[in-house]
Amino acid sequence: MLNDLLLRNRAWSARRHAQEPDYFTRLAALQAPEFFWIGCSDSRVPANVVAGLDPGEVFVHRNVANIVHSSDMNLLSALEFAVDALKVREIILCGHYGCGGVKAATEDLPHGLADHWLEPIRRLARGYAVDLGRERDTEARRDRLAELNVIEGVRRICETPILQRAWRRGMKVRVHGLIYGLKDGLLRDLDCSIGPGHFQPPDFHQEAAQ
Ligand SMILES: [Zn+2]
Repeated sequence: MLNDLLLRNRAWSARRHAQEPDYFTRLAALQAPEFFWIGCSDSRVPANVVAGLDPGEVFVHRNVANIVHSSDMNLLSALEFAVDALKVREIILCGHYGCGGVKAATEDLPHGLADHWLEPIRRLARGYAVDLGRERDTEARRDRLAELNVIEGVRRICETPILQRAWRRGMKVRVHGLIYGLKDGLLRDLDCSIGPGHFQPPDFHQEAAQ
């Protein structure tokens, strides 16, 4: 199995080099991606492939069910590097229909550590129980919950001091929420994009209303 993988790598490297002889030297010298992608670890949703982007065009962080935990040092470190060092213009949080993480969060079964990781999705499911109850079946409810998880994640990214500081410095970075369909290979915009000036944290210092 590993040999197959190494052989495929050699074939890909040779093909890429033949197409563009300075491809690897150019990429090795600099990465300047426009996009930071936060997605699910699911093997069927690789950022570069589904977005049609080449190596070097997207900086990527993936975790189970593309959850934005406000205390996840892994995600926050990648986010800070993407915004402050790479100066990406677009941050994409991408969920997908048929997500196994969302499914696990809605099952009454023990999943070990994943149950801790998936807690924000269960909290969302409780908060939107009435809305989700209107969906026609369990699969549709899970897919709607996957969308809500993305919309909530976009809001959480925008609340981080990383984004707040970037916008105060005048950076134009925007955050978008997309969902990917495993059945048709299409990305859908959830229309929850947030950019500079669209998101204000509560003003703690404002005077009380008269
Ligand atoms: Zn998933």
